[in-house]
Amino acid sequence: MILDHRGDTIYKTAGVDAEVPLCHRCGNSSKKHFYSYDSPLDGKRVTYCMKCVSLGRSDSMKPIRCRPTSRRKSASPYHLDFDLSSQQAYASDRIMKALRSGRSLLLYAVTGAGKTEMTFQSIEWARSEGLNVAFISPRIDVVKEVHLRLGQAFASSDIDLMYDGVKHVHNNHFTVCTVHQLFNFIDHFDFIIVDETDAFPLPEDPILMQAIRRASTSKATLIFMTATPSRQLIQEVGEEGVITLPRRYHGQDLAIPKMVWHDIRRDLNRGRAPQKLMKLIRDIIEAGRYVLIFIPEISMMETLLKVVREVYPASASVYSGDPERTSKVEQMRNKEIRVLLSTTILERGVTFDRLDAIIVHAEMFNTESLIQMCGRVGRKQTDPVGNIWFFAHYQTSAIRRTFRTIRGFNAARVDT
Ligand SMILES: [Zn+2]
Repeated sequence: MILDHRGDTIYKTAGVDAEVPLCHRCGNSSKKHFYSYDSPLDGKRVTYCMKCVSLGRSDSMKPIRCRPTSRRKSASPYHLDFDLSSQQAYASDRIMKALRSGRSLLLYAVTGAGKTEMTFQSIEWARSEGLNVAFISPRIDVVKEVHLRLGQAFASSDIDLMYDGVKHVHNNHFTVCTVHQLFNFIDHFDFIIVDETDAFPLPEDPILMQAIRRASTSKATLIFMTATPSRQLIQEVGEEGVITLPRRYHGQDLAIPKMVWHDIRRDLNRGRAPQKLMKLIRDIIEAGRYVLIFIPEISMMETLLKVVREVYPASASVYSGDPERTSKVEQMRNKEIRVLLSTTILERGVTFDRLDAIIVHAEMFNTESLIQMCGRVGRKQTDPVGNIWFFAHYQTSAIRRTFRTIRGFNAARVDT
């Protein structure tokens, strides 16, 4: 069923059971995520759930309405203007087999493997059988990008798009959305693809995993896609359900990061330009390339931007709340910006040409982020490797695990 305030059926007489407390929409039962106040109208105590408030309020006064799930067969042909690599074709077949037999899979795939395209064949089949399909990700940027790409490939299909305040819904048969949006679905989807499974906030938030399970039918096939699988996820699908996809779609190795031991923050705090970094940026620009510099904190990023901009005016910075975020990414794509400083916001979902990457204070990032940041370079057939530098003050287990993962992918055999 689909929870919907326009539905004719009452699913629960109140969205929140204030006594427990429990939210019947998202399953939140943690006291700190509820808020109570006395209604100015009748003085009654109202409790609402803050966890899923972005989907519209679930509270102790209003019922949750719903409408039944429907299924409809639909011919959903897709078009791809290139051939899948042998690894992509192998993965595509494995996903097809998993779907036909109602099993789940974990695609442990290198960044830039071309994961989205591996799902097309199965999506087409699922829709022709009348199965409800969802392609979900924890990250809004990824959701938007995937919706665009699916829209181009499945040009004659109606594809829903839902995240935060955005809701373009045709019929709930073929949906691209953030994980949070699944709170409105119960036993609805038969085939769910979870992209960027390692991205915040999925690993830290068990409620989101519950949302995926509740939104899917008992026989549903779940496909998890990630470059850094957690133990919990491997358990979820079982060892035999894990497929390793170590090659990028163009077949080249991943670049191995070069380590530079240096404390950039100390330079900035003393009002000095970090010379090693400045020389590196000069070398990159003189080689006719572009650079994405990842910084762990916004304040450090802004200080560094001033220093870099004095020498290279075609520089900019970007963070999640930046109103000009989209236009800056566009300018980088159009080669108007040479040096782009960013928080982890650009660690996924972006592709730039002739790009190198520098990670500042790499010791402050986790492995998931480091792998994704490294994954930004070498994504184009015309420039398939690129360069990565880690500037770190000291060694960490996350840095070591990143090197292990990248070397492991480069050395791995490809199943076909
Ligand atoms: Zn809730």
